[in-house]
Amino acid sequence: MTGAPSSDISVQGLTKRYGDVVAVDGIDFDVPRGACSALLGGNGAGKTTTISMLLGLLLPTAGRITVLGQDMVRRRYRVLPRMNFSSPYVDLPHRLTVRENLAVYGHLYGLPDVRSRVQVLVRDLQLEGFIDRESGKLSAGQKTRVALAKALLNTPALLLLDEPTASLDPDTADWVRGYLETYRRSTGATILLASHNMAEVERLCDQVLMMRAGRIVDRGAPEQLIRRYGRQNLEEVFLDIARRRGIAAQEAAQ
Ligand code: ATP
Repeated sequence: MTGAPSSDISVQGLTKRYGDVVAVDGIDFDVPRGACSALLGGNGAGKTTTISMLLGLLLPTAGRITVLGQDMVRRRYRVLPRMNFSSPYVDLPHRLTVRENLAVYGHLYGLPDVRSRVQVLVRDLQLEGFIDRESGKLSAGQKTRVALAKALLNTPALLLLDEPTASLDPDTADWVRGYLETYRRSTGATILLASHNMAEVERLCDQVLMMRAGRIVDRGAPEQLIRRYGRQNLEEVFLDIARRRGIAAQEAAQ
């Protein structure tokens, strides 16, 4: 057992290099149990690479990752059954229907009663209209909802979400955010999400990790950051940091 017992994710010196490109550059952070944290940053900041390493899909070049108390590089098989993820960049097999895909994943997770778990998620995430359609024939927003259903199949204690409301219309996105809030409240799950939607992050997250060029350049609760930068909302803080006005704002606050 490694890492602080009250943290579900603990990362130290995490680095990923692709040849000359340093995608993630020695970052440190913790996500306390039951918290919701956000990884924010412009395109190419290193968010997806970080999440992929947390999932064990990519091997770090250097650094340490402890997830649910286990070293993710050496012992990921112990924690994978208790975590899950959704990403708009990972497609489900196209030829299988939504129902078949969810059943396959349910069996892979070794669920005791796949059929009833799928039924609950189909009802909760309102997938009835396209449950027997081939997954390759869904709209982008429908795919996002199916990806979320897949991510919740094993009722994970740790949920990693890459842009959980990408492609959703404002009404459905709002509804999905409410669903995630309820899921977190009722299960005590820990969530780490990457998002470009600042209103979503203000609503869902207790902690924000601001990334730029592979590094964490600022962090804090959304309201702390808004106050520190003297802004009205997180969107304005994001723009300050992305356009490097953040450094001046931080110095002025000291
Ligand atoms: P976005 O908001 O655009 O999704 P991101 O913050 O998720 O961006 P990453 O996908 O983690 O960013 O990419 C970080 C950096 O690593 C980028 O410069 C990207 O071009 C580079 N990168 C990612 N994957 C590879 C790869 N397989 N080979 C080389 N470089 C890569």
